[in-house]
Amino acid sequence: KTRSLLEKQEEIDSNAVAYPGDIPIAFEDGKGATVRDADGNTYIDLFAGIGVLNVGHANPYVLEAVHEQADKFVHTVDFPTEARLELIEKLDEIAPDGLQGNQKVVFGGPTGSDAIEASIKLSKYNTGGDGLIAFRGAYHGATTGAMSVTGNKEFKGHYTPLLSDVVHAPYPHPFRQDKTPEAAVDHALAEVQAILEDPYGGLANPAGIIVEPIQGEGGIVTPPEGFLQGLRDLADDNDVTLVFDEIQSGLGRTGQWWASDWAGVAPDAMTSAKALGGTGFPLSATMYHEDLDTWGSGDHAGTYRGHVVGMRAGTRAIEYIQEHDLLAHARDLGEYIQDRLREAADDTDRLAEIRGKGLFIGAEFVDEDGKQDGDVVDEIQQYCFEHGVLVWTAGRHGNVLRFLPPLVLTHELAETALDVVVDAIEHATE
Ligand code: PMP
Repeated sequence: KTRSLLEKQEEIDSNAVAYPGDIPIAFEDGKGATVRDADGNTYIDLFAGIGVLNVGHANPYVLEAVHEQADKFVHTVDFPTEARLELIEKLDEIAPDGLQGNQKVVFGGPTGSDAIEASIKLSKYNTGGDGLIAFRGAYHGATTGAMSVTGNKEFKGHYTPLLSDVVHAPYPHPFRQDKTPEAAVDHALAEVQAILEDPYGGLANPAGIIVEPIQGEGGIVTPPEGFLQGLRDLADDNDVTLVFDEIQSGLGRTGQWWASDWAGVAPDAMTSAKALGGTGFPLSATMYHEDLDTWGSGDHAGTYRGHVVGMRAGTRAIEYIQEHDLLAHARDLGEYIQDRLREAADDTDRLAEIRGKGLFIGAEFVDEDGKQDGDVVDEIQQYCFEHGVLVWTAGRHGNVLRFLPPLVLTHELAETALDVVVDAIEHATE
């Protein structure tokens, strides 16, 4: 059945579909951290729809409210609803220090890219500038503004020209840059400073800095201490907006509500999507300091800026994480997963670095000469698929094995899944 669904998809669906690997998997249903395919095979999901299903597939607590809401009404744009106001208040409750109590939220549309566009507009609106600083290896989305700040040519090469005034600075990546953590941070911050302050830096009229607190698609690149604070200082000194893209890293993924909470640094604006819609409903938001709330009615538009079911799902998902103490669970389980990967790394030079926070984990693979090796990661992913575990890839050459499991993954299931992953690593690197 799965094979025939896949064949049909190949026949009628878009060429742009990115189906990973060679093994046919067509989903029939999911519960928590497992999914079942159309032939009844069960998989442990360490990927969660690219970090969307933080409270798991078909979370019953979320779905209860979804059914209730869907029976009443689904969509209103900007009319007040309890669902909308509840979510705005809930987002304030979990906001980083510095935004909490002063936070405004704009719902701009269903996707992360929508939230990025809103954050770019907000930066321009408030500074009168138009230039943006982003980072090499960053991924911010698929719309024109979001592609412009994305730092990977593969995602935008066919679609230029994009926004013209964007300069990409290096993101600190000590391992890949062969630098100490301090030197990697100093290097990145010096570049940002030069772009902002040196006439040779290239930006005529800077509006903002946009950064992932941990790079997701770029390979779970986890910057050393001092980077986000350094950006905060540079943004303050130069009167530009500091935007954190927490679309993949936020809402508990790292074992804190926001990845930037680890650094204790608050942005001026912050984007969220993916897990924001609860158990998989499309919803995005840009949160920002009330001082930036200078725009007028209708200055940011979008039909889906008020999806009531998504909002209900979002509030329930945050409540679920709070009630089940899933931030602490994500931290504990993340350590367990990293420990298992480090044990595997003891047996092979091909597993070169393990990094991340909470359940946002990357394992970087190299070939015999230390070069990024995407082929070995493909082989590991394929082996895992064949043995009932869904894992994803990331990184410049697809050479990072990426773990983004639902935060509800149990220790027992994690153990079973990691047995498979470790076997896969042995199999692919022997
Ligand atoms: N920012 C980050 C950090 C992301 O990981 C993504 C999606 N992978 C996006 C933005 C874009 O989100 P969407 O695909 O929902 O537009």
